[in-house]
Amino acid sequence: MNNYFSLKGKVAVVTGSSTGLGQSMAIGLAKAGADIIGIASRSNQDETMKEIEKTGREFYQIQADLSKKTEINSIVQDSINKKGRIDILVNNAGIIRRNNAENFSDEDWDDVINVNLNSVFRLTREIGNHMIANGSGKIINIASMLTFQGGLKVPAYTASKHAIAGLTKSFSNEWASKGINVNAIAPGYMITNNTKALREDKKRYEYITSRIPQGEWGTPEDLKGSVVFLASNASRYINGHILCVDGGWMSS
Ligand code: NAD
Repeated sequence: MNNYFSLKGKVAVVTGSSTGLGQSMAIGLAKAGADIIGIASRSNQDETMKEIEKTGREFYQIQADLSKKTEINSIVQDSINKKGRIDILVNNAGIIRRNNAENFSDEDWDDVINVNLNSVFRLTREIGNHMIANGSGKIINIASMLTFQGGLKVPAYTASKHAIAGLTKSFSNEWASKGINVNAIAPGYMITNNTKALREDKKRYEYITSRIPQGEWGTPEDLKGSVVFLASNASRYINGHILCVDGGWMSS
């Protein structure tokens, strides 16, 4: 049974691995046997490194700004150089900006679309080319409940996360026959920096919590199993799927 989920000998690139969901998924993949290349904008990934080293796996960190188109090629080359191959890509890095739709600035729009969408497209295309040459690969994009719903005061975030569904399906259609599984995870409401403002708005926090069938917000720990599943042989015949990890939110 263990073999289905083993990632022994695999190399995974995880973006946004310094904190939150990305950090937890990187540790989960390492626990399943993968060495990790973690990309984040913050220089300090010591906590992630410490936890991964405890698993006996290797951790390589790359500090880069994914919003800059010009940095993508060197990020990809640096990542490949670390271990000579990449088997798994988790496109997790993301930002959110909040403002009323009528006041939402061009700058906030561009910042969010650049990180949440443009960098995912470019990294997937470039690392995907490397995977195509290897004849195998697993790509996991991080979507959101706002892949399906409109949300409030987050038009750029919602647009970017709707687009993640389209990107996942379109790349999957072209690459499933080349040995590459492209899927997405849509986390529900999880306790991280990204949702701090939402949790501090008492009214919205209570409303959201009351709408979650499981009755509680998720934690970064809750994504470990799903990311290992989509990165492993257990998901060999799963393509273009968006797996909701949401305490039942989408069914309520
Ligand atoms: P977070 O703010 O805790 O972490 C974001 C990570 O992305 C950090 O490691 C940061 O360094 C990295 N990052 C941000 N901008 C970057 C850039 N320009 N270049 C390189 N790295 C950059 O957020 P989180 O809650 O862990 O969210 C991770 C992903 O999950 C995001 O895509 C987010 O949209 C998605 N998500 C989160 C929730 C939630 O409830 N927290 C729900 C659904 C989806």
